[in-house]
Amino acid sequence: MEVLFNQDDHKNIWLEDYGHGLAVQANQHMIVHKGQGLILDPGGHKAYKQTITQVAGLIKVNDLKYLFLSHQDPDIVAAVNGWLMTTDAEALCSKLWIRFVPHFGVDRLVEHRLKPIPDDGMWVNLGGCELVILPAHFLHSVGNFHLYDPTSKILYSGDLGASLGMDYAFVTDFMTHVPYMEGFHQRYMTANRALKAWAKMVRTLDIDIIAPQHGAAFKGRELVQQFIDWCDNLACGLDLIESVFKVPARA
Ligand code: FE
Repeated sequence: MEVLFNQDDHKNIWLEDYGHGLAVQANQHMIVHKGQGLILDPGGHKAYKQTITQVAGLIKVNDLKYLFLSHQDPDIVAAVNGWLMTTDAEALCSKLWIRFVPHFGVDRLVEHRLKPIPDDGMWVNLGGCELVILPAHFLHSVGNFHLYDPTSKILYSGDLGASLGMDYAFVTDFMTHVPYMEGFHQRYMTANRALKAWAKMVRTLDIDIIAPQHGAAFKGRELVQQFIDWCDNLACGLDLIESVFKVPARA
């Protein structure tokens, strides 16, 4: 567990990671303000038990107000029914995915607590503190959101900035880190046009930390800027599609 910010009843906690076998490594983050909690991308069934135990160690489970779902992937949403059944929280999810998520098995008793996020994003009040959900569509999902916390100046960027395979939790040298995230971004992110629009939006924010859902975080102004600049210039997805669409050679 890593406390990213802790000041005046406001805490940003990066929860402990317990290994997953074949399942992709995923980060769970929590924001606590005056005892009320929001959990970001709570994860699948393998992470559920340990994650909820950690939440219970930080706040009263009944004071968990929101589950923020950046998009619809199983490593984010699969255990949403368990979370809704054991807490009073609302799950916030793109309006585009609201009728698909119940296929993970959302009980009738709790389905009214699955709430749609409009395409433009929205503000959320957590115990008197304002958080903003930002549009990040096509990065990579068609209905995709990031969450910015103006108090801690942390931008939670979901799959954007994800890295795999290194053994550190915080990036120290940007160029050394690029190989751990490049392939994923080239294949999963839709197009540079979306990255450019995102970069333009987030350059208007005051950001100390960018915390992705997989792999290492970018801490400090310099690394944050380097990451945004890298996204701004990255060719990915549709930009590279001609090189992918070829009839495969026979084995
Ligand atoms: Fe994803």
